[in-house]
Amino acid sequence: MSAQIIDGKAVSARVRAEVAERVRGLVARGVTPGLTVLLAGEDPASATYVRNKEKAALECGIRGATLRFPADVSAATLAAELDRLNADPEVDGILVQLPLPPGISAEDSRALQRRIAPEKDVDGFLPFNQGLLMIGEPGFVPCTPAGCMRLLAEAGVSPRGKHAVVVGRSNIVGKPMAMLLLAADATVTIAHSRTPDLAAVVRTADIVVAAVGRPGLVRGDWLKPGAVVLDVGINRLPDGKLGGDVAFAEAVSVASAITPVPGGVGPMTIACLLENVCRAAERRLPPA
Ligand code: NAD
Repeated sequence: MSAQIIDGKAVSARVRAEVAERVRGLVARGVTPGLTVLLAGEDPASATYVRNKEKAALECGIRGATLRFPADVSAATLAAELDRLNADPEVDGILVQLPLPPGISAEDSRALQRRIAPEKDVDGFLPFNQGLLMIGEPGFVPCTPAGCMRLLAEAGVSPRGKHAVVVGRSNIVGKPMAMLLLAADATVTIAHSRTPDLAAVVRTADIVVAAVGRPGLVRGDWLKPGAVVLDVGINRLPDGKLGGDVAFAEAVSVASAITPVPGGVGPMTIACLLENVCRAAERRLPPA
C-alpha cells in the first residue's frame, strides 16, 4: 500500500486564493491590508525569504513593503521604526526578519522582536500570542504549525482522540504544533533530542509531526502502519536537493498519508502568513 501524498503546493494555492478573495472584499470596504518587513544587513538567504513574502503578499492584493537597513544600523533606529509602524493604521502586520546583523546583540534582537504590537504580530511569535494559544484563546498562531493543521484538515484527518507525537520542541514549530493538536482534541506527546528510544515513542503515534532539522531521522519502521506523517524538516542534502526529517521512500509504504519535501508543509507557511495579515486587517473594518 502506498500513502496518500498530501499536496502542500495545491493546498497553499487554495489558501492564497481564499486570501485574495478576502482581500478583494476588504478593499471594496476601503481597507487594503498591509504587511511590512524590516530587513537589516545583507544576508542573501534573508533577502530571498523577504522577497518571496513580499511577492506573495502583492499577488493576493496585500500591500507588501520591505524596509531595508544597512548592516550597521543601530537597535535604537530599528526600535524607532517599529514604534512608527505600530502606530501606522495602514500597517496590519509587521515582521522583523532574522537574523539581525551581528552588531545587534541577542538581547537587543529579542527586545526588537517583542516591540511589535501584539495585534500586528502576524508571525505569532510574541509571548502574548503564544500565551493565547496555550490557554486556547484566539490570537495569531505561528504560520508553519497553522499550515500543518490545514494540511490535516484537507487530507480529511481529524486529530480528535488520536495520539499525536511531535518530534521537536522549538518555540516556532514544535511547541505551538503540540498546542494546536491538543486544542483539536489529540493526545499529544512532545519528543525531542533528549527523548530516549525515539523510535518506540514514534511507533505509538497515529499522527507524527517531524520538526527537527535532521535529514531522514524518522525511519519507515518507526511508524505505526497507517500513521499520518507531516514532515516539517527542510534539509539541504549532500546532492544539493532538499529533503525532510522523514525517510520518505521508506515511510510512504507504511503511512496512510504523508507530506513530501519539498512541496508539503513548506509552501503552507507563507500562505498562512498571508491569512494572518488578512485577519489583522479585518479588525480595521467598522462593525457591520
Ligand atoms: P530548531 O533547531 O529550533 O528545533 C529542533 C528541535 O529538534 C529541537 O527542539 C530539538 O530538541 C529537536 N531535536 C534535535 N535533534 C533531535 C534528535 N536527534 N531527535 C529528536 N529531536 C531532536 O528547529 P525548528 O526551527 O523547529 O525547525 C525544525 C525543522 O523544520 C528545520 O529543518 C527547519 O528548516 C524546518 N522548518 C520548516 C519550516 C517550513 O516548512 N516553512 C518552517 C520552520 C522550520
